[in-house]
Amino acid sequence: MNSRNRKKISNRGNDARGSRLCVALSVLTIAFLVLPWSYGLAQTEENRYATEIAAVIAASNLYNPTSIVEDREYMGAVLRDGDRYLYTVSAGQQRRDKITVKIEIRPGCELIALWHTHGAPASERKYFSKVDTRLAEKLQIPFYLADFTGLLKIFEPGMPRGLGKGRKVLDNSGDVIRIKVKG
Ligand SMILES: [Zn+2]
Repeated sequence: MNSRNRKKISNRGNDARGSRLCVALSVLTIAFLVLPWSYGLAQTEENRYATEIAAVIAASNLYNPTSIVEDREYMGAVLRDGDRYLYTVSAGQQRRDKITVKIEIRPGCELIALWHTHGAPASERKYFSKVDTRLAEKLQIPFYLADFTGLLKIFEPGMPRGLGKGRKVLDNSGDVIRIKVKG
């Protein structure tokens, strides 16, 4: 999310209520974590991944090239389903530096993290916006950002919010993870 979006955050899910939320959702067919940028139902991918980061990389590689070409943000959740991870994705509005997300949290799934892209090149888009960092703090979950340079960054609750730099995500060898910037 870009800093120009300053709408108040109001969501119905947070970490403290996470387990209760999952239980509550088990009686529903579909329930949503409604983020302030509501725009449409996020699509939930059926693929399952072994780790949270594997799900984020898969989502980012698939949507970052399109995000850059279309200058449109993509955002979604990483959900844990037992010992597997899946992601949801929702498209923002083109050239509008904002995104609206309704994330489906399926019964039995737990919200683990959020991921997103920042659209076309612009220097400030290499950083997490104030809205991004505030959201991570509010939900008490990590927020990932794949930017137009192909870097993957993470902002975790408790990190310095100032410049919104987060930190680069590294692979098991300690190398920077590169995300696709071209399809
Ligand atoms: Zn953002």
